[in-house]
Amino acid sequence: MLIHLVEVFTRQNQVIIEETFNDFIYNDGIYKWPAANGLNFKVTLKHIAKDEIMIEGISSTTLIIPCDRCTKEVRMDINTEFSRNIYLHNDEEDSAYIDGANLNLRELINQEMIDKYPRKVLCSDECKGLCPTCGVNLNNKNCTCDRGQIDIRMAQFKDLLESEFKEV
Ligand SMILES: [Zn+2]
Ligand SMILES: [Zn+2]
Repeated sequence: MLIHLVEVFTRQNQVIIEETFNDFIYNDGIYKWPAANGLNFKVTLKHIAKDEIMIEGISSTTLIIPCDRCTKEVRMDINTEFSRNIYLHNDEEDSAYIDGANLNLRELINQEMIDKYPRKVLCSDECKGLCPTCGVNLNNKNCTCDRGQIDIRMAQFKDLLESEFKEV
């Protein structure tokens, strides 16, 4: 959804947009997860100075994400509440969601969601994950692979590694 800001603000100083993106797909640059029932948002755009726009908004959606350990579908609510100022016609300001005087609302909300994205998505805290040898879902059945007693500790260690990796 592209909004041409100059056009909008020739008629008024404030615009409120309340809508639903029916086919929203979250995209963090690596993974893409679909919204179960679209994404609802309400955004207020205020023209506060020449070439300066204040954006306040809220959004809510439920994404369908595979469990980090067993890949089972998890429904995760991700809501945002944000406020930021943007500057038009500023080359340094150009980003995924603003290009000259065009605001891409879908992309702006996607960026806010990346900040809110949970570090770990699990179907349950006790999820046993998949057997690294045979790939069986250990929540549903056991296998005869020799894994000893280190499963849970390995899973926790893997989580730790992944979360440290994500911080970089
Ligand atoms: Zn799981
Ligand atoms: Zn196995």
